[in-house]
Amino acid sequence: PIDRKSVHRICSGQVVLNLGTAVKELVENSLDAGATNIDIKLKDYGAELIEVSDNGDGVEEENFEGLTLKHYTSKIQDFSDLIHVETFGFRGEALSSLCALSDVTIFTCHKSAKVGTRLVFDHSGQITQRAPFPRQQGTTVSVQQLFHTLPVRHKEFQRNIKKEYAKMVQVLQAYCIVSKGVRINCTNQVGQGRKSCVISTAGSPSLKENIGAVFGQKQLQSLIPFVQLPPSEAVCEEYGLNTADMPPNLYRITGFVSRCDHGVGRSATDRQFFFINQRPCDPAKIVKLVNEVYHLHNKHQYPFVVLNIGVDSECVDINVTPDKRQILLQEEKYLLAILKTSLMEMFGSDVNKLNVNQKLLDIAGRTMWKFCVKFSNEDGNMWTEMLSESETESPSREGKRTMTLARLRESFSLHQTPECNFRSPKKVKQQQRSPKQMLLDRTVSTAKTPKTVLTKEPQGCQKVDSKGSVLSRYLRKLEDNSDSGFCSISESDAGCSTPEAGSCINSESAVNSEGEFCSTEEQLQPAGCSKNSLDWDVQGLGTEPESDRGNDWTDQREFSQEANSSSPRVKRFKSRKFKSKAEDLEAGKYPEVMNTCVDVLVEVQKKIVPLEFSMKVLAEKVKKVIQQQQKRTETENYRRFKAKISPGDNKVAEDELRKEISKEMFAKMEIIGQFNLGFIITKLNSDLFIIDQHATDEKYNFEMLQQHTVLQGQKLIVPQNLNLTAVNETVLIENLEIFKKNGFDFVIDENAPVTQRVKLVSMPTSKNWTFGPQDIDELIFMLSDGPGVMCRPSRVRQMFASRACRKSVMIGTALNVQEMRKLITHMGEIEHPWNCPHGRPTMRHIVSLDLISPE
Ligand code: ADP
Ligand code: MG
Repeated sequence: PIDRKSVHRICSGQVVLNLGTAVKELVENSLDAGATNIDIKLKDYGAELIEVSDNGDGVEEENFEGLTLKHYTSKIQDFSDLIHVETFGFRGEALSSLCALSDVTIFTCHKSAKVGTRLVFDHSGQITQRAPFPRQQGTTVSVQQLFHTLPVRHKEFQRNIKKEYAKMVQVLQAYCIVSKGVRINCTNQVGQGRKSCVISTAGSPSLKENIGAVFGQKQLQSLIPFVQLPPSEAVCEEYGLNTADMPPNLYRITGFVSRCDHGVGRSATDRQFFFINQRPCDPAKIVKLVNEVYHLHNKHQYPFVVLNIGVDSECVDINVTPDKRQILLQEEKYLLAILKTSLMEMFGSDVNKLNVNQKLLDIAGRTMWKFCVKFSNEDGNMWTEMLSESETESPSREGKRTMTLARLRESFSLHQTPECNFRSPKKVKQQQRSPKQMLLDRTVSTAKTPKTVLTKEPQGCQKVDSKGSVLSRYLRKLEDNSDSGFCSISESDAGCSTPEAGSCINSESAVNSEGEFCSTEEQLQPAGCSKNSLDWDVQGLGTEPESDRGNDWTDQREFSQEANSSSPRVKRFKSRKFKSKAEDLEAGKYPEVMNTCVDVLVEVQKKIVPLEFSMKVLAEKVKKVIQQQQKRTETENYRRFKAKISPGDNKVAEDELRKEISKEMFAKMEIIGQFNLGFIITKLNSDLFIIDQHATDEKYNFEMLQQHTVLQGQKLIVPQNLNLTAVNETVLIENLEIFKKNGFDFVIDENAPVTQRVKLVSMPTSKNWTFGPQDIDELIFMLSDGPGVMCRPSRVRQMFASRACRKSVMIGTALNVQEMRKLITHMGEIEHPWNCPHGRPTMRHIVSLDLISPE
């Protein structure tokens, strides 16, 4: 067994997890002791020393012995007291754990004592030295060399000290904000250098002034006070609540939130503080809700948040995790409903754009089998989504599907040159095409014509005519098959078109294009479901079945006339079709007539042959066959790609790709061809993939810009003050190189007072982009999480994204094999090829050929 000393040491690491919890525990103890003045002294960011002094009650002499013993606490007597606990501490673990992890000395003078005492403790919490020590009422706890009793943790602690320090400051900020009437001051001294101020509040009785002391007066200007409202009916319905059951004053919420005007919020969640009964905590659902509501109004930023939720202590349980930051609440839904209603009201009741789009989607989904809707978002970026409606099964569907799949498998299994059609005409012929199938082919090809006539759009606009080619029809079929291993294409990711390309459409014209799509798509339906398609079917039906031959010729003439007026792509498609028909005639029809059989007389001779038969051998053979069969089904059952091609499945799909496709696999992919002038179809072993040519090129270009661009800075006429907190100032000073690469340059005045040491002298500029202090804030936030790691502010990323987009191959551009090969190879050269910088998918698995037909 592990000896008791070691156990204590190990377990102590679970109470005091890091610098943040150490400081937190000590500050909480001071607050619990009723202090109105708390001084925190750090040496080397806390790695060398943490010393917290207060003017609280102090410790009585009779309590000295127990002070640092495990589970000694003066705050509760038994379990029932826990319900009403008003103090931060109640477990009696912090001091005992700190003793186990570091060298602890306590100086204290209780209000009843004449003189103070100095107490030195060993790692098991025993007093080793005790001597009178002059001091005023209160307590000082000094923690030296935190974690030095756990060598590995200690090393890691020292290595990550900046990160730990940044997190600790975040924790401390929360206590500074919430502790009304308590003056908190924190300093840090690095080596023998000067003490610098980390944080300092003035002991004001108001939350607002505390916020101002921590984050500066400027931050206050962007805040609105939280105004609590009872939950609205709509919100109650959403949460399935009956408000009548709720006590009206269960929750009392106060605090401040950013206004939602653009630019007023923050670029990260770095300033969000939640409290329950003044206790700092991380209530995940509440955090999420607040950010979500804020995003409805300002989707590019995050709010500053300080919210205290007052609730009767019977309704909360804080004794959930050792750091007490996870809290269980009764009637949490009710709280969420209050928050949502109140925040919505505070941010104003604009109808947000998402809802409008949602309606469009609904209508579209109902009326069409599948069609494209184009939206433009606020930035003018356009995206296209294809929607599928659960279509009623047409009777002959099953048969058609099997055949289509078999053919699809065939066409991809044969080695084909990329320019080749997606099916070989001969093979198709041998498959005995059903009249229905022919009708479908016909319908598609004829429907093509009106479509091209209808499509009068500016050059460069990528109308996604995903129904145009033979392949797309197959893909459409596959969609119904999603649970048998086939993916559905329900999201066609047309590359973003920049405004420059003239292809951006606004929401008004989205309606138009919808209508257009509507008519064309309907014509494509296999069994006439709409008036339009009926017309086409009738035309086809009237001529097709009887006189195949004559009709083909008529058709051909018709087509060639039409071909004159249609796009080159349509021509290609048609001539392909004629060829197959012509070959039908040559190879198919005539030999069939020649081969009719004639009866011939045959003489039959009888002969007796003994048949060797062993039941054992047969049984063995059968067993073998069964085993083989089992093996086959097993491999079939292991499907590596299961995600559907649908926005909801994006994460799953990406995870699968990340898991299954390694960097070097891209180079091994076979290029099958280009589909719809927008997508590259590739094959790796038996898997087919579809790759968005624009999105993938965009991602590659983006990564290159991101890695290699040094932004040019422009000198400011007057150096600008930045109002940084002391910590942020330090982070900035330590990462000047990274700022420089992003075009930001500063002058540092070491002798100026803290928070005034840094002045901005140069800012990045680019034609249409302006940058400012908020980008610096964001960089600081990222850098305090990963010191020294190259990063870019999100707006620089956006700028790169937009540059990358303009540089990249557009949808609608024909590519030859080399060009496609290059795009695919590039995918293997970047870290995350799965998404374009705008977050759209670059690549999806279409189907595994092994799953299509048994042989
Ligand atoms: P807890 O806070 O859960 O009671 P701690 O280990 O943090 O446990 O503290 C143990 C005890 O030491 C407290 O119950 C309190 O009586 C005493 N104590 C700790 N810090 C102070 C302080 N700054 N001032 C007065 N008493 C303190
Ligand atoms: Mg405590």
